[in-house]
Amino acid sequence: MEERIQAVLRERFGRDLDNCTKSEIFEALMVITKQEMAKCPRNTGKKKLYYISAEFLIGKLLSNNLINLGLYDEVEKALEAHGRELTEIEEMEMEPSLGNGGLGRLAACFLDSIATLGLPGDGIGLNYHFGLFRQLLVNNKQKEVKNPWITGESWLVRQPVSFAVPFKNFTMHSTLYDIDVPGYESGCNRLHLFDVDSIDENIVPSDSINFDKYQIQKNLTLFLYPDDSDRAGQLLRIYQQYFMVSNGAQLILMECEQKGYDLHRLYDHVVIQINDTHPSMVIPELIRLLQAKGFTMQEAIDVVSKTCAYTNHTILAEALEKWPLDYLEEVVPHLLPIIHELDAQVKRKYDDEKVYIIDKDKRVHMAHMDIHYGFSVNGVAALHTEILKNSELKPFYDIYPEKFNNKTNGITFRRWLLHCNHELADYIESLIGPAFKKDANELEKLLEYQNDAKVLAKLEEIKHHRKEEVKQYLYETQNIHVDADSIFDVQVKRLHEYKRQQMNALYAIYKYLDIKSGNKPKTPITMIFGAKAAPAYTIAKDIIHLILCLEELIENDPEVRPYFHIIMLENYNVSKAAKIIPAADISEQISLASKEASGTGNMKFMLNGAVTLGTEDGANVEIRDLVGDDNIYIFGKRPQDVIDLYAEGAYCSKDIYDEDEEIAKLVDFIVSDELLAIGDKACLERLYNEILNKDWFMTLLDVKEYIATKEKVYKDYDNRKKWNKMCLVNIAKAGFFSSDRTIEQYNEDIWHLS
Ligand SMILES: *Cc1c(COP(=O)(O)O)cnc(C)c1O
Repeated sequence: MEERIQAVLRERFGRDLDNCTKSEIFEALMVITKQEMAKCPRNTGKKKLYYISAEFLIGKLLSNNLINLGLYDEVEKALEAHGRELTEIEEMEMEPSLGNGGLGRLAACFLDSIATLGLPGDGIGLNYHFGLFRQLLVNNKQKEVKNPWITGESWLVRQPVSFAVPFKNFTMHSTLYDIDVPGYESGCNRLHLFDVDSIDENIVPSDSINFDKYQIQKNLTLFLYPDDSDRAGQLLRIYQQYFMVSNGAQLILMECEQKGYDLHRLYDHVVIQINDTHPSMVIPELIRLLQAKGFTMQEAIDVVSKTCAYTNHTILAEALEKWPLDYLEEVVPHLLPIIHELDAQVKRKYDDEKVYIIDKDKRVHMAHMDIHYGFSVNGVAALHTEILKNSELKPFYDIYPEKFNNKTNGITFRRWLLHCNHELADYIESLIGPAFKKDANELEKLLEYQNDAKVLAKLEEIKHHRKEEVKQYLYETQNIHVDADSIFDVQVKRLHEYKRQQMNALYAIYKYLDIKSGNKPKTPITMIFGAKAAPAYTIAKDIIHLILCLEELIENDPEVRPYFHIIMLENYNVSKAAKIIPAADISEQISLASKEASGTGNMKFMLNGAVTLGTEDGANVEIRDLVGDDNIYIFGKRPQDVIDLYAEGAYCSKDIYDEDEEIAKLVDFIVSDELLAIGDKACLERLYNEILNKDWFMTLLDVKEYIATKEKVYKDYDNRKKWNKMCLVNIAKAGFFSSDRTIEQYNEDIWHLS
């Protein structure tokens, strides 16, 4: 390997390992890795999966590809011989910005597991040049700038494939870029990312994410989720979605025809997993393309209905896409006859408005189309699927009980253990052998050591090493000084009111005031936040502002600062997740019960030996069932109580505020003189009013129990032996959350790939 790296360096740069730059080594390693992947056998079979998703939050690829190809240790040694460190080289890679949060990361974990299990399955998406925005923290506020990530030498391999995609007034021709996806000690699959050559990156200035939304030829694949607060923005999203699915559908049919398959039996050779509703137009598009090949409308509908399966990711009504008919008419008029026919068939059969595809306001419910014209509907955690069946999608469950199934999410342990925490992985291997790398359930063997003082002390030591690394990293990147001997209490995830970062901020206010009044914590506390807010989501940005103002307040208060520290990671992404999660003691999973479909962050923390402080929501419920009540902290109103409260319209935050002085004190602090001296009055007042008068996600309902529970968590932390045992049990029980398990279940119940 050493000689091979040297050869590439000499050929490309005329240098060798002793005198080249880190980015030259990175490029050389990328070249070698790409050569290896090109040699890697493709996973094949008589039926193939296409996983269509608007997002693939794949993260940096170098180390993970090396691990999966079995080359990591070799490369590490070769570099070490010349005093170079692979962990430093991997920092050179730009993180692809092709996803937003959990949904996109799930798609990336799935690709890894599908390849690892040797199943033939490719991803289909778009090649966003600037991806989701890059977050800067300036003057205690989030600022968005573009995030260019595509470099000269990249993982993207241009393919000699192009399709014509017709829109109302013009046609666009795609280009296809593939990224190889090597399985862990297994064959390779591909991620297909469609793009257009006419994209003009220069229409976006360097210091913002604004651009002309009407110039579709120039802007189509610039951003993931461009601002859709106006009509032009919504039309752009429809353009993007249709471009993605039309290319995907044409690719699928092309591959089938190349293999000589009978398209009348498409479903014997192809299964299409629709990841949330962004790709839903693949259904009418496939019908259209099959009609063009001579199918009758009904033949096409029947074939497509047996080919497509839908995954639901949310029960937040505002997140379920409904496109106005006239918007679709403006972009893809050729799909409308098909959508009208699909709707007409539903209306002939069922006279319940709730299951119509086109509602009385002439909006097209994308999820309804998926459910009627797909053969499978799955939720992403046990609780979530039950809520879909019993309330959110009940009218559909009544019609199609056989279509509904659960697939509890998972994460790939290659990235979220082997890669992000080498030391822990190596230590686990020294205790129970290497089998857990292929079979995650083997982790249970760790339970043998739950009372072994030496093992528990070692786990504590490894955690401390991760904290030291975070300390160093935060100092270098954000000039922040954290205390590696403090408790790391971490909430990292997209910013949304339902995830309730604002409740954690109210806790921070509580703790600040408590320390001010003389109660100093025995062990110092570091509260770590990381979150991007959608650019048009005002209240979410106000919550970021509050957290940053609290950070500044405490930073400058010598009475409090030695005991309590709040920090906000800038631009939270996969690489930052991989650094911060292994260092965490406490995993904050505090969404309003019933609102978080699954969560996958919760699984990553558990696997790295953090203890969950959470509500009875999403996969937290399954974590509790696995580790038992003694190894998790669950608080707050239960899902059914919350569902009932919404149904009755019975929640009123103002009443709670009026009746409880202690809560009022925390809320009032948002607009206190101290914070107004630091922050923006308009933002803080808006947030204050929101919590006082609306609080749609019921922060004040749970905040007291949250504070009490968190106090207990901190107290328990001081009994380190007991705490370390909880960490061990969490790691040992995490096997269920391997995405290998999830994918095996998808295959067993939905895909039936051979
Ligand atoms: C795992 C992950 C998420 C999802 O986190 P949740 O806590 O499940 O919402 C979001 N962003 C990144 C970068 C992640 O790695």
